[in-house]
Amino acid sequence: MHIAVIGNGIVGTCAAAWLQREGHKVTFVDPLGPAEATSFGNAGSLSPSACLPVGMPGMWKKVPQWLLDPLGPLTVRWWYAPVAAPWLVRFLRHSSVDEVVRIATALRGLLAPIFECYEPLLQRAGATGLMTRSGCLYVYSGEEAARQWAWGMGLRRQLGVVMRDVGEEELVELEPDLKGRFRFGILAPENGSTVDPAAFTRALFAQCERDGADIVRKRVTGFRQAGGSVTGVTTEDGETLDCEGVVLAGGAWSARLTSQLGTSIPLETQRGYHVTVESTNLALRHTVMAVEHNIMVNPMRMGLRIAGSVEFAGLKAAPDYRRADVLLTRAKDMFPHLDTSRTTQWMGHRPCLPDSLPVIGRAPKVDNAWFAFGHGHIGMCGAASTGREIAALVAGRTPQIDLSPFSPTRFAA
Ligand SMILES: Cc1cc2nc3c(=O)[nH]c(=O)nc-3n(C[C@H](O)[C@H](O)[C@H](O)COP(=O)(O)OP(=O)(O)OC[C@H]3O[C@@H](n4cnc5c(N)ncnc54)[C@H](O)[C@@H]3O)c2cc1C
Repeated sequence: MHIAVIGNGIVGTCAAAWLQREGHKVTFVDPLGPAEATSFGNAGSLSPSACLPVGMPGMWKKVPQWLLDPLGPLTVRWWYAPVAAPWLVRFLRHSSVDEVVRIATALRGLLAPIFECYEPLLQRAGATGLMTRSGCLYVYSGEEAARQWAWGMGLRRQLGVVMRDVGEEELVELEPDLKGRFRFGILAPENGSTVDPAAFTRALFAQCERDGADIVRKRVTGFRQAGGSVTGVTTEDGETLDCEGVVLAGGAWSARLTSQLGTSIPLETQRGYHVTVESTNLALRHTVMAVEHNIMVNPMRMGLRIAGSVEFAGLKAAPDYRRADVLLTRAKDMFPHLDTSRTTQWMGHRPCLPDSLPVIGRAPKVDNAWFAFGHGHIGMCGAASTGREIAALVAGRTPQIDLSPFSPTRFAA
């Protein structure tokens, strides 16, 4: 089939690569170049352990306190509150114990095969060097503090994530730069990372191009449909590109296009920030998740990337880089000797659903359109397995992962 892939972030790129492996002709349609949106500046973690949803049991008690602090880990800009409120209510409804177990089980299914789904793509692209398998250290000020998160860590273990406790002495051996600030850790040795998320995505995209993908640098505004099928995608200049199938991987911008295909999806953007400290004098060996600070610190080839924060302010508002400054302040708390003379800042749009699960499946009202978006905080982790499963759906095969929790019809009620 000739398939138009809308979106060339990591999810669209992986879907295209897997479709090409099955012999399909791909045309990317996106006004931006590869990895110029959210896939550019994320924290790069490739974590089979990242199966917990964002909304956890008891979180509702902390939300009011977070909302009162404009620079806290979660913020809603006041003028956006009426838009965000109904979504946040739905989000909190998915944070019960039963819901979290259901969601984590589904996410574990998607994330367990991260590496088996990325490896063939990276090998073909000659880019295996952009992925590392050095593990992730979840760090805490002490064992007592870690107990607050023990239930979630226990759930991860029950779902098969390999993790082991690390005492203070071993923590310092594993990461000497953490000395003094953290006294307890949990090591997820099977986690991986990319040393440059943008280069990683672009390497896979370049291989798609070498394998014959066409590239159309335009925004999709609608579809030409006939008899329950899409026969073309319409672009901003009014032209229509013929195709025999469509994969919608438009990240946080996907909802307007799903509506045009007859399905309403409650997609919201959780805006996140990074600071990259360019001339780092640290030598971290692992991805470090500072759980109490809610930030991830990852050594990358361009420096030390510190990422986190959740801000509700829609798709159009300008970034509030005070939130990135907060990340840097927290990083200086963690590493007092960090040289912060050269830094860059960035904001990106995580595409999020209220249940923290992406949407992966055939469009309910169209035969030949497939949805692949809404990966929220785990788009780098889940892109390759999403791509493999989209290729199975397009071929009419039973997917290897149970996709029912990710169904586009789940919000219909
Ligand atoms: C601070 C931060 C840290 C993060 N850290 C991690 C991490 O460590 N690990 C992890 O797994 N995930 C992480 N994420 C999440 C991850 O970055 C995203 O889930 C992922 O990049 C989403 O990829 P995507 O391809 O769906 O979207 P994007 O990369 O945003 O790409 C979407 C593309 O669709 C295009 N598009 C949209 N609308 C249209 C249209 N109408 N027509 C044509 N094209 C269109 C856009 O131009 C864009 O190029 C993080 C995110 C943030 C913000």
